[in-house]
Amino acid sequence: VGVGVPGLVDVVKGECRFSPNLHWQDVPVAQLLGDSLGVPVFVDNDVNLAALAEHRLGAGRGYRDLIMVTVGTGIGAGLILDGKLYRGPGGSAGELGHLPVDPAGTLCSCGRRGCLETTCSGTAIGRRASQLVHPASRLWEQQPLDARAVFAAAREGDELARTVVQEAVAWLSTGLAGVVNLLNPSLIIVGGGVAQAGPGFLDALAAAIKLRALPHPAAQVQVVAAELGPGAGVTGAGLYAWDRQGKELPCP
Ligand SMILES: [Zn+2]
Repeated sequence: VGVGVPGLVDVVKGECRFSPNLHWQDVPVAQLLGDSLGVPVFVDNDVNLAALAEHRLGAGRGYRDLIMVTVGTGIGAGLILDGKLYRGPGGSAGELGHLPVDPAGTLCSCGRRGCLETTCSGTAIGRRASQLVHPASRLWEQQPLDARAVFAAAREGDELARTVVQEAVAWLSTGLAGVVNLLNPSLIIVGGGVAQAGPGFLDALAAAIKLRALPHPAAQVQVVAAELGPGAGVTGAGLYAWDRQGKELPCP
């Protein structure tokens, strides 16, 4: 059985070291599930597994260097570098959501301040709209606000909603331009709930990344939507379990 966990995972031991969103610390996931299921259990970060699935079966087929970023309740990333998932020696590589971007920013679930996900995750977009909302906006009647409502109002031309979306694009493109400069990827795959805001959002994000990143790597990177949808993590978990058992994959 393969399992994806939203947090920092020790893949050798199958333990979740830290998950701010689940409030987990040192949870032996593989052992707990393995004891009750009676089969080997392999655990990795959920976005790493989504990246693995998109690389093998989705939008990243044929690419050797790509970033999979998910923007939903939080923000996560999986790095495929030179054809392989890159985890770093402690397994924490790809924590794009906790990239510090605003020294005086909002307190994050990780305990630090001004992380990228406090500025442009779905949660942050809803929070920002709630701060700014006024009676002239169609969002005034829809409180409490979430990112889905903000994107819908923006598509219908609501000025306040458009401002909030533009701010989110500015923050997210700042983080991703840093990744482009650092790693020179060929592809950025965008998934998660916020990515379903539509092609307008992705086009704006791609244009903003090109404006902020260095011209050379910016010209080489493409920004595309994920292909496997919300099931990418589960598909990746299955692929990972097969890989770890050294078995031939049951798919191309
Ligand atoms: Zn954080």
